[in-house]
Amino acid sequence: MEADILNPNDLKEIGPVFGQQSFDDHEQVVFCNDKDTGLKAIIGIHNTTLGPALGGTRMWNYQSEMEALNDVLRLSRGMTYKSAVTGLDLGGGKAVIIGDAKTQKTPEMMRSFGRFVHSLGGKYITAEDIGMETKDMDTVHEVTPHVTGISESKGGSGNPSPVTAYGVFMGMKAAVKHKFGVDSLEGKKVLVQGIGHVGSSLVKHIREEDGEVFISDINRERMEKIRDQYGAIIYEGDVYSADVDIYAPCALGAVLNSETIPVLQAQVIAGAANNQLSDETIHGRMLKERGILYAPDFLINAGGIINVYAELEGYDRKEIFRKTENIYNTTLNIFDTADKEGITTHQAAFKIAQDRIDAKKQESQK
Ligand code: NAD
Repeated sequence: MEADILNPNDLKEIGPVFGQQSFDDHEQVVFCNDKDTGLKAIIGIHNTTLGPALGGTRMWNYQSEMEALNDVLRLSRGMTYKSAVTGLDLGGGKAVIIGDAKTQKTPEMMRSFGRFVHSLGGKYITAEDIGMETKDMDTVHEVTPHVTGISESKGGSGNPSPVTAYGVFMGMKAAVKHKFGVDSLEGKKVLVQGIGHVGSSLVKHIREEDGEVFISDINRERMEKIRDQYGAIIYEGDVYSADVDIYAPCALGAVLNSETIPVLQAQVIAGAANNQLSDETIHGRMLKERGILYAPDFLINAGGIINVYAELEGYDRKEIFRKTENIYNTTLNIFDTADKEGITTHQAAFKIAQDRIDAKKQESQK
C-alpha cells in the first residue's frame, strides 16, 4: 500500500501557523522564549524582497497565543505593502510580545528580546509600536544595532507623529484635488476623529489652509485644548453621519464597515488610523459604489515609517519631509489607476506595491 503523502496544499487546512487566517506566504516566523525574563514573543517576517523587514514591536495582553500569532502575521504583511507603496527599500516585518506592558515589561526582557532580534542578523529591524517607548528601543539598542526609533540623543529620529500627520495632510490634499478639483482645503468641512499625537497635528495643518475643522475624541480636556489652540469646533453628534466633506479617522481601526458606510455623508476619507476598512474587499467596494473617495490608510500614514527609515539612511529632517510630501503624488497616481482599471483605491495601492515587489524579484533572478 502507498504511504500517505501529505499534499502541501493540505497544510492550509491543518497547520496552526501555515493554516492561520492571516498567513500570507510569510518568509519566516520566529517564536522567542526566555524563561529567565518571562519573554514570550513572535517575530513575523513577511517579505524581504525590497530590503530588510522593518516594523515595530507591540506588547499586548493577548488572550491567546493564536491571537498574538494572527496579529503579528497581519501586521507584518501590512508593513510590506506600506513600505513598498511608499517607495522605500524595506520589507515587511513586525513583532509582538505577549504580556502587559505596564506591569510585565522590564529592561532585562527588552535586552532578551533584542538578542533574538540580533540573532536574525539584520533581516528584521525593530521599532516602537503599542506598549513600547523610545527608552525601550534604547535598551534594545544596547544589544543590537538592528533597531530604530531610538532617542534623538542616541542618534535616533525622535517623535514620528508630526511627520505622519504631514503625510496624512498630503494624502487629504490629493483626495480633495481628485474629488473636487481644488488645490486647497479652504472652506472644506473636515471631521477629525481622535485628536491625539497625529490628529492634533493634522488639525493644525488643515486650519492653516482655512479648512473648517470639527473634532471628536473621548478625551474632553484634549478637545477643549485643541479647540482653543487652533479654532476647531467640538463635534458632539454621531461621527459617521456628520454633514462634512471629509472624514479623517485618527483613532481606531475598522471604522469603515457595513454599519457606518451607508450613513456617511463625507465624500472623502483620509485619516491616520491603521486598518480603517473592516474588510478590505467588501468595504473598499462599498465605498466605491457610494462614490466616496478613500485615501488608503497604509499609504497616507506612512510618514512614521519614512521617519524611521531616515535613521537607517542618515537623512536629515528636510529629506524626511520631502519624501513625505511625495505621498501627494503617489496618492493621486493611485486614484488615477483605480479609475482607469475600475478597481478600489485600496486595491490600486496594493497593486502598485505588489508590482514593485514583483519587478525587484524578477530583477534579482536575472
Ligand atoms: P494617540 O493614542 O496619540 O491618539 C489617539 C486619540 O484617539 C486619543 O486622543 C484618544 O483619546 C482618541 N480616541 C480613542 N478612542 C476613541 C474613540 N472611540 N472616539 C474618538 N476618539 C478616540 O495615537 P496617535 O499616535 O495619534 O495615532 C492615531 C492613529 O494613527 C492610530 O490608529 C495609529 O495606529 C495610527 N498611526 C499613527 C502613527 C504615528 O506616527 N503616531 C503612524 C501610523 C499610524
